[in-house]
Amino acid sequence: MVPVTYLAGRNVAVFGLGRSGLSAAAALAAAGARVRAWDDAAPRRATAGTLGIELVDLAALDDGAWRDFACLVLSPGVPLTHPAPHPVVTRAKATGTEIVGDIELLGRTVAADAARPRLIGVTGTNGKSTTTALLGHVLAASGRAARVGGNLGTPVLDLDRPGVDGFYVLEMSSYQLDLAPSLTFDIAILINISPDHLDRHGGMDGYVAAKRKIFDRQGAGCVAVIGVDDPISQGICRDLRDAGRQRVIPVSGAGPVEGGVFVVNGTLRDDTEGRAETVADLSRIATLPGIHNWQNAACATAAARVAGVPAEEIGAALSGYPGLAHRLEQVATMDGIRYINDSKATNVAAVAQALACYDDIYWIAGGRAKDEGLDALESLLPRVAHAFLIGEAADRFAAALKGRVPVTQSGDLATAVARASDAARRDGRAGAVVLLSPACASFDQFSDFEARGEAFRSAVAALDARRAGGGRTEAKPPRLMV
Ligand code: ADP
Repeated sequence: MVPVTYLAGRNVAVFGLGRSGLSAAAALAAAGARVRAWDDAAPRRATAGTLGIELVDLAALDDGAWRDFACLVLSPGVPLTHPAPHPVVTRAKATGTEIVGDIELLGRTVAADAARPRLIGVTGTNGKSTTTALLGHVLAASGRAARVGGNLGTPVLDLDRPGVDGFYVLEMSSYQLDLAPSLTFDIAILINISPDHLDRHGGMDGYVAAKRKIFDRQGAGCVAVIGVDDPISQGICRDLRDAGRQRVIPVSGAGPVEGGVFVVNGTLRDDTEGRAETVADLSRIATLPGIHNWQNAACATAAARVAGVPAEEIGAALSGYPGLAHRLEQVATMDGIRYINDSKATNVAAVAQALACYDDIYWIAGGRAKDEGLDALESLLPRVAHAFLIGEAADRFAAALKGRVPVTQSGDLATAVARASDAARRDGRAGAVVLLSPACASFDQFSDFEARGEAFRSAVAALDARRAGGGRTEAKPPRLMV
């Protein structure tokens, strides 16, 4: 844990008592700050109470109490501006109280030291967790101290300090970037941008502005790594190069970029020193399937090169990457049919990447739909043999797929898995894949995407148990735990 020493003796408000809020409260208390905390959910308050955290309904406190707070530490899930500011945000703003997140607390705490570990931030619409985990893996494999957290895995204040030669590799959602007003990343990675979370950012402009914040305050000595495979990120890359404040490294998973790190037909090359040096053959790395993962690997490689890792060591480390659960994770092969858990694919851009990886797909989709249609999948639908639809979005998706793909309304996930498996076996196509890649949030039927992915794994295991002889469910591979 990193005690938030710069707030020792101060009063601090903490709102949102999920994992990062509890972690912030503990790290503040450990430094001798007086924490008063609240959450709208009674069970979360109850948990915090058992940990000895002082609970106060913050929104109901008077102006005097608010003016005594050094800051409000807000959980990233709490609306800051859109669709409407949470009442606690309104109170903070009305009393001039600074609003920050736990990552800002970490940044200010380590910045107070004369020498500090380097901060690497990773953002983008898709691929954040993969790129963060991959970069942490590469740095660790090359013997560097790397602490990995933020939006994925361990809350940042729970991580041990890596020492002055080490690195924090931090996954930054757009919400967390909004809550990190003074953080400067030594290396900032923007993987890609496509529409997502528009409700929380008041539209596309707000979303793009939040993502760009990862480069704020960067100056000489800092590095911006930018995926240039979409037009918005390309524009940001151009702007930063024109402004000339930091070094900019362009990255592509889909073709050569001069002076950058890129992948051509699976071969990862580093041209940052003008030599287009080969780093790895990604087409042979089973845990990094698809051009989208090549983009992630190229981003991680660019950052690792800046961190001083030689190309050969990066190549070796990429080959040993164990993968993350719920992202194109192969959970079983039975009768030649692969079962792939891509529960984390909660938007259409992520699903497009998944569909591009396979032919003869028995596709399970649905859940709580986001505000986007399936149009972006049009050219990929010929790869889908049959769609099995679940959850709230099922009718909408059925209408969108009508006449293009055979559809079976399946209600829940276990039913969809059983039906998809039956259909794939009946059709008997070589290389068939049962793919959960929902294009939806999970909250209509599950607590989160992890629970949905585990339910898929269980449903597949149940199929395995039901079958008489032959086939096998793969032992759970040694995945990075996040
Ligand atoms: P994030 O943390 O940004 O949500 P993840 O690494 O967890 O990203 O991947 C989420 C989903 O997005 C995965 O299911 C995967 O299929 C898809 N994905 C991963 N990387 C990319 C990328 N670079 N571009 C588009 N889609 C991606």
